[in-house]
Formats: sequence, structure tokens, C-alpha cells
Amino acid sequence: PVYSPADERYSDGNMSYRRCGRSGILLPEISLGLWHNFGAGDPLSRSREILRYAFDHGITHFDLANNYGPPYGSAEQTFGEIFRTDFRPYRDEMFISTKAGYDMWPGPYGNWGSRKYLMASLDQSLRRMNLDYVDIFYIHRFDPETPIEETLQALVDIVRSGKALYAGISRWPLEATKLAFEYLDRRDTHCLLFQDRLNMLDRSSVYSGILEETQQAGVGFIAFSPLAQGLLTNRYLHGVPSDSRAAQGRFLKADTITPEIIRRTRELNDIAESRRQSLAQMAISWVLADKRVTSVIAGCSSINQLADTICAIKHTDFTQEELALIDNAIG
Ligand code: NDP
Repeated sequence: PVYSPADERYSDGNMSYRRCGRSGILLPEISLGLWHNFGAGDPLSRSREILRYAFDHGITHFDLANNYGPPYGSAEQTFGEIFRTDFRPYRDEMFISTKAGYDMWPGPYGNWGSRKYLMASLDQSLRRMNLDYVDIFYIHRFDPETPIEETLQALVDIVRSGKALYAGISRWPLEATKLAFEYLDRRDTHCLLFQDRLNMLDRSSVYSGILEETQQAGVGFIAFSPLAQGLLTNRYLHGVPSDSRAAQGRFLKADTITPEIIRRTRELNDIAESRRQSLAQMAISWVLADKRVTSVIAGCSSINQLADTICAIKHTDFTQEELALIDNAIG
């Protein structure tokens, strides 16, 4: 049947939106990431169900990259197929990202940060996603070999060409990031978003000063892997389920689920219960408790997970005691 989005998708209480740095853009506190579970081997019907559920609940931002899959490109293809059948009339309600910077195609021009790679990759991404433009295009990682001016000028030119409305940076070190923000500002292409990992277990973006730097520069900060790929959920409280990411073992290895991790996760789970939240909800609320964060990009493998996760926005304040208990559980 033809998709018709929920009328109440923007009603109060469904989703909250935060302003992205100094910009005109509001993003949902929870964005949907398509790194896992949207590849060629994943059921299209489930991908469609998840995307529809997200949009019906006020999630307007969808995060992709050229090489999400597997195989590379297939998450964009899945998104493109569902965009064509379901979302095309709602394009102007959606904020869609893609990136390039990691391994994508063979040979010297399908990786890292050259102008050649970024330009070609974005053209490919647009074709796969059936889009005329993306809302934001990111350099996906820092390339120590390519002059940063080359990479950044490619971003500027991409924005000027209209193939992306905004430019973003993911996972760059602090000093290069400062230079990048300045370079982009000087060319009237203010960096809209910085994307980095932030979750209860990995706070390096806070300790490195990058979160504060984005705040000072008027750049939004969007946190990926808020659930530490599923570790900060009820998924592994009793071992490794066969349909979990750790069982696939591509990026999250089953041997990271040590008895020690399980013990800590159970402790965190108890704290979440005392807050009347699931562990996944508490993990997301914890990231959103920092008002410098614009949005978290959550992944999911079912609508039940997404339904659970979304409720995190309802309870993002923590007492000092709860925060201390969390720090203590993490050790
Ligand atoms: P999360 O930390 O959100 O982990 C998602 C996984 O957690 C799901 O696949 C699922 O595991 C499990 N899960 C999700 N919700 C629940 C729930 N409510 N209850 C129980 N388990 C749950 O995110 P990702 O690591 O997937 O990262 C999110 C997004 O961030 C990516 O899709 C991508 O868009 C972006 N990203 C960007 C990077 C970059 O370099 N810029 C790097 C990494 C991610 P399972 O599948 O096992 O069911």
C-alpha cells in the first residue's frame, strides 16, 4: 500500500528538536543511522518498516555513508529504493546525510580525502539514493597525507554546486578541526555538524576538547554509537544472541562481551531500572543530557528497538547521584 505518514508526526512530545550550532537547522534529538541492518542481505521489508516508523515519529534525519552495507553502497541503495517508493513527496521534510573518506572502490581514487574521491563518491551516492542533493556531506575521516585545503575546498565546492546544502566533518583530530572550521567559515561554508563517537563508555570526544570546540565555533555536534553498538542495551545481559551484531562479528566482536562487561552492563541496567528506563534509553538520555550535543545517531535492527530508544528523549535529566552511580559502574 502507498505510504502515508502519520499526521501526528510533529505533535508535541513525539520528538524534540535542537538547533544545530549557529545555523538555521533543527535536528531531532534522535537521528537514525543506517550503518548496519540496511544492507543488501537485510530484508527490505524490515528496512522499510523501520524508516517509516522513524519518520512517523518525528525522526527527520537519516545518516548514511557511501560504504554502509554490506556490500558497500547497499545501504544507500536500500534507502534510495524506499525513498523512491515512500518518501519522495516528503523530501523537504527530510535531512539526509552521506559521507566519504573510508575505503569504497579499488585503486588509488576510492579512499581517503582527495578532491577526486570526494566528488566522484558524492555523485555515486546521489545516484544510489535517487536524490538530487544531500542535506549534508561529510568528510568521513582525517587523511594525514592529503593537504587539508584540498579536502576542505572540495567540501566548499560541493556545497556551492548544490549537491549538498551543508558541509560536515567526522572524526578529525582537534587541531585540524580548528583549522577546518576557520577555512570553511572564511569561504562562507560554515561547518554545520561535527560527527564523533560519544557514549557512556567512550567519552574521548569530551576529554579531547572536541565537543567544547564545536560548541565554541557554533558547529553542531552529532554523536554516533550512543549505545556502543549495542553493548549499552539489554542485548548482551545474558550472553550473545545469534541475531545480534556481536554474533556477526564484523565490527563488534563477540570476545569484547567479557564477563566483566556483562557485570558492568547489569549494574547499569539496574540504574536504568531505578530511573524507569531501559538501559538503551538511559544510554541515549545520558548523551542528550549534555546540551552541547545536537542529536544522537542511533542504529537499530527492529522497530521494537527504535520504539524503545525514542522514549529516551522523555527523561534526559540525571541527578548527581545517578551520574556518580553510572561512573562507578563503568569503573
Ligand atoms: P548504536 O550504538 O546506536 O548501536 C545500535 C545497535 O544497538 C543496534 O544495531 C542494536 O543491535 C542495538 N540496539 C539499538 N536499540 C536497541 C534497544 N532499544 N534495545 C536493545 N538493543 C538495541 O549505533 P551504531 O554503532 O549502529 O551507530 C549509529 C550510527 O552512527 C550508524 O548507523 C552511523 O550512521 C553512525 N556512525 C558513524 C560513524 C562515523 O565514523 N562517522 C561510525 C559509526 C557509526 P543489534 O543489531 O545487535 O540488534
